[in-house]
Amino acid sequence: MTNSRKVHVKSFGCQMNVYDSHRMADTLAPGGYVETARPEDADLVILNTCHIREKAVDKVYSEIGRIRVMKEEAAAQGRQMLIAVAGCVAQAEGQEIVRRSQAVDLVVGSQNYHKLPEMIARARTGERVVDTEFPVEDKFDALAAPRREEIRKRGLAAFVTVQEGCDKFCTFCVVPYTRGAEVSRPVEKIAAEVERLASAGVREVTLIGQNVNAYHGLDAAGAPASLAALCRRLSRIEGIARLRYTTSHPRDMDEELIAAHAELPELMPYVHLPVQSGSDRILDAMNRKHSAAHYLDIVARMRAARADLAFTSDFIVGFPGETEEDFQDTLRLVETVRFAGAYTFAYSVRPGTPAAEMEGQVPEDVKIDRLHRLQALIAGQQRAFNASFVGKTLDVLLEKPGRLSGQLVGKSPYLQTVQVMAAPDLIGRIVPLAIVDIGTNTLFGALAETPAVPAFAAAGA
Ligand code: SAM
Ligand code: SF4
Repeated sequence: MTNSRKVHVKSFGCQMNVYDSHRMADTLAPGGYVETARPEDADLVILNTCHIREKAVDKVYSEIGRIRVMKEEAAAQGRQMLIAVAGCVAQAEGQEIVRRSQAVDLVVGSQNYHKLPEMIARARTGERVVDTEFPVEDKFDALAAPRREEIRKRGLAAFVTVQEGCDKFCTFCVVPYTRGAEVSRPVEKIAAEVERLASAGVREVTLIGQNVNAYHGLDAAGAPASLAALCRRLSRIEGIARLRYTTSHPRDMDEELIAAHAELPELMPYVHLPVQSGSDRILDAMNRKHSAAHYLDIVARMRAARADLAFTSDFIVGFPGETEEDFQDTLRLVETVRFAGAYTFAYSVRPGTPAAEMEGQVPEDVKIDRLHRLQALIAGQQRAFNASFVGKTLDVLLEKPGRLSGQLVGKSPYLQTVQVMAAPDLIGRIVPLAIVDIGTNTLFGALAETPAVPAFAAAGA
């Protein structure tokens, strides 16, 4: 294929899907596909779906319906538009998608993205192609690396998947069924990807995985390496000033990773550590394999290693059997930890998971009431956390222009968004900013002094 074709990839859900969407676009680029933000212009629309939210499957079918209209309009103009469904809904539903929706040309499971060029070629001839196997080959080996211009377009902070899948089987969660067993990528392959990103100007890398701190990829000597060892290896790559990782599980938070927060200046003092509930009875029913005390102990040990560590978390309220007393335990845990923020969810049934069949499903109005009370408590903590920086200086990685003319936007070590009026040549630098005020989700900074950290001179930049 030599002619240029347009692909529109729409990503739903988590950062792992955003990463996969980029890698799909990278894999199609050598075949002449360029990305477009306008689905109506595309020759190929990929819906990279997420199964985690309620009614995820229904939402995918209604999205397919919307794209189908564009496909029919394209056909009326004599143009072929293919519709592909990828991601966790594709993995879970497989053949059912092409059965239910005539407009879908191909369904590709999350482990098969490297096969897309071949699948698309078959679909172009009218075949309807479904591949949701878990193949033995490593899809990451077969996926094309991004081009330098693409890396730059995506910004100075990049995500890299280091681990996929989950063996934990929390009773509320679909991930172990849609993403399969835990698999870790080898250290040197990740290092090569990060080196490539760094040489194109990326300064901050977030290592992602459904259970990232269960990482156990092989190192150069063929021995399993921990996430801490991976961070140490990546911290030596020139140009990489900041490392983060997400999402962690309390069970896998080991001494070595805690110590890495004290040792490695590149490892940012911010950890997303989902707890889900503060009640041991509910944690047990969730099959979380940790208690509230265990969680609090981890937080204390991590803060002993690095006093300024900020924690965020995920919570589910209204899990089957949750009483007001259980919910009070959650509020107590929140008061003890003092979070910098959190994602809060009302429990919702995921068909096929053990919790869906449990007795004691909590009425919707009770769930919503608990959700609001938890959100109010966490919002107060988030405001207090942000306000504690007013009058202090934070090192901010300036990433891009802001909405106002002359404004730049960046990230603090604690993943807060910071806005500042500053010259665009500071983009790519880590700049000390005096924090002068806070908004709802943003800090406002002022240039404190001449940037201490020079811009990374990308080779050939
Ligand atoms: N692996 C991570 C962990 O161990 O916490 C997070 C995985 S999941 C993609 C993200 C969050 O969605 C979970 O932490 C949980 O709070 C929420 N979630 C998952 N299933 C849910 C359900 N059935 N109802 C409500 N929230 C749910
Ligand atoms: Fe889902 Fe639990 Fe695995 Fe997180 S640890 S992905 S919540 S099963």
